Amino acid sequence: MSLISKLSEQFGRFPGIGPRQSRRFVQFLLMQNQSYLDDLSDSIAKLKGEVSLCSSCFRFFVTNGSHEHELCNVCSDTNRDHGILMVVEKDIDCENIERSRAYNGLYFILGGTVPILEKRANGIREKELKSTVTERGEKKELKEVIIAFSLNPDGEHTGDHVVKLLSPLKEKYGFTTTLFGRGLSTGSELEYSDSETIKNAFTTRR
Ligand SMILES: [Zn+2]
Repeated sequence: MSLISKLSEQFGRFPGIGPRQSRRFVQFLLMQNQSYLDDLSDSIAKLKGEVSLCSSCFRFFVTNGSHEHELCNVCSDTNRDHGILMVVEKDIDCENIERSRAYNGLYFILGGTVPILEKRANGIREKELKSTVTERGEKKELKEVIIAFSLNPDGEHTGDHVVKLLSPLKEKYGFTTTLFGRGLSTGSELEYSDSETIKNAFTTRR
């Protein structure tokens, strides 16, 4: 395989990138100067070593190579409300909500959705969610779990799934579950919602 085909095959594995786009990426790189390419490959080479997965919310966070921190900056921040946990699909949703400054609680990244046509959940952090909620419930600090998925059929299906999943723990520890996004129009992707919409979705949750 030529280097061009290899690289284009590698870009083709990126989410949402087809063969035509991946070839354009390679063309783009060929037009850049060497220092840009060196910088890019350096960032990629360092990525896994300098970014960790938070053991509580499962967000990726920058550790700058130090492996002392198990918890990300949000989970270890004592000024945040540790009584509220927001369950989102992916890191980008969490970043977008942070940007809106509407929310001061903690997060949990589920790592995917439960597609409406699938009966069983695959590859999402169900066990981890239950143990994070149990841990917070045992400390008697959990007041509310906010379910925040995109307002599309898969998102709503995932929301229902998480509500069901948490219902025995909800009874045991006495927290409430609310659904985020009543202020978002149907079809809204959390990832692309602006700060105003997110603030709305947050205040109208129920
Ligand atoms: Zn965290």
